[in-house]
Amino acid sequence: MPEFDNMNRIQRTVDFCDMTDYQTTGDHPVSQLANSPEDQCTLIIGGGAGGLELAIKLGRHYRGFNHKVILVDQNRTHIWKPLLHEVAAGAMDPDIDGVDYLSLGNKNGFVFHLGTMVGLDRDRCVVQLAPLLDNEGQTVLTQRELHYTRLVFALGSVTNDFGTEGAREHCIFLDSPQSAQRFHTRLLNEFLKLQADDTKHTLEIAIVGAGATGVELAAELYKTTELLKSYGYNHLSKNRLKVRLVEAGPRLLPALPERIASATKRELEKLGVEILLNTAVSKVEADGLHTREGEFISSKMSVWAAGIKAPDFLHEIGGLATNRINQIKVDRKLVSTVDSAIFALGDCAHCEMPDGSKVPPRAQSAHQMASHVLKNIKLMDAYKPLQDYQYVDYGSLVSLSTYSTVGSLMGNLTKGSMFIEGRLARMVYISLYRMHQFVIYGRLKTLLFMLVNRINRRLRPTLKLH
Ligand SMILES: Cc1cc2nc3c(=O)[nH]c(=O)nc-3n(C[C@H](O)[C@H](O)[C@H](O)COP(=O)(O)OP(=O)(O)OC[C@H]3O[C@@H](n4cnc5c(N)ncnc54)[C@H](O)[C@@H]3O)c2cc1C
Repeated sequence: MPEFDNMNRIQRTVDFCDMTDYQTTGDHPVSQLANSPEDQCTLIIGGGAGGLELAIKLGRHYRGFNHKVILVDQNRTHIWKPLLHEVAAGAMDPDIDGVDYLSLGNKNGFVFHLGTMVGLDRDRCVVQLAPLLDNEGQTVLTQRELHYTRLVFALGSVTNDFGTEGAREHCIFLDSPQSAQRFHTRLLNEFLKLQADDTKHTLEIAIVGAGATGVELAAELYKTTELLKSYGYNHLSKNRLKVRLVEAGPRLLPALPERIASATKRELEKLGVEILLNTAVSKVEADGLHTREGEFISSKMSVWAAGIKAPDFLHEIGGLATNRINQIKVDRKLVSTVDSAIFALGDCAHCEMPDGSKVPPRAQSAHQMASHVLKNIKLMDAYKPLQDYQYVDYGSLVSLSTYSTVGSLMGNLTKGSMFIEGRLARMVYISLYRMHQFVIYGRLKTLLFMLVNRINRRLRPTLKLH
């Protein structure tokens, strides 16, 4: 796309987005415009793995300039999503590890708005946020609108149950801190029942989907049992937990190399996890799963971790092009194929590489895409042509709690794929989160947080017990 064409389109969008009429004529009495339409504003929806990194870098970049950066998220605090299975198992406490958006915004030059995006009006360049309710259902804020000159979608993905009957009612979806905490509370209650009852019945947990989320959660659950026993639950043992990993495909970790999958399978079976491959779930009930082959897998708690999709409200939102799982279609510049004032990154973006492959929904993709959007925004401001994004796979790691970590590294250093396992793999796995923290806090603060974590390990229980 010729650069000036692109810039002209942006400028036209900016001109088009003069909101004064709406403000004065009161054409939209229900929604209040929450920011000034005169402001040049980049609006980022979703403060996750990609969106928060972009908001921080862009906020610092525009500090002192007449350009606002606004971040909207439906939660007050940020938890790095790849750690949600640790929240579910109790290895991580979101009240301690959650990062406050408001204070990050204050330090890094962006404005934070708490809210849930529900609509987009591209003609008026506004995003609509749902009314904000408190825990009792009382309205805190009515429906609001936010004006943008540039919009970035970074609102991630949700669990895809592929319309399986009963899945939504009876399965826990591990796709938000709230659902991970709900799972944790239920888990503690089930363990409490086991402790109170020494008749040796077991707690059956079924996890649908043997991708990274399912596999990592299975291992964490055995660690939780071990730790609870050390806190006085003397009737507990690994034998009283039965985790079944149910996978429709022929092997674990379908998106990762075979060697990682077989090493993971070995470790999980050592722990006692039952792995059911080629087993497709057709229906879920309160007490278990029905398979397409006519079997019944009994389960006290069921978790659905078998697929993702972008949130349903994104489907063709504001006339944008979306795919069948609601991801916004972007070109290699990460710009919407329909509107050059709109970017999308991370799990909610559909971006194809020249070989026809799709950028996978992973934390490293969200991180890379956030850096690329930043680069292209700077180029846009400098009236220079935008650059194409190229996804780089640096490898994959699977953490089986403290029992083991396996994975592969890729890149220039390793010349292809290098299999790693054990301590080294664990260190690399942890360093991925540290890198995310570096972007958020800077080096010094991250080091301080690491120190505080070490101290907390001495002062606090290693497991969230409430
Ligand atoms: C349990 C689990 C384990 C995982 N493990 C790994 C792993 O080991 N390695 C890996 O690479 N990837 C892993 N992933 C995938 C990885 O977490 C995602 O690919 C990554 O977080 C995507 O980043 P994102 O910025 O696109 O979205 P997210 O990080 O999901 O952030 C989206 C943000 O948008 C906000 N939001 C959503 N909807 C709205 C709305 N309507 N209005 C306002 N805000 C909204 C959310 O609150 C959230 O803060 C894992 C995922 C899960 C669930």
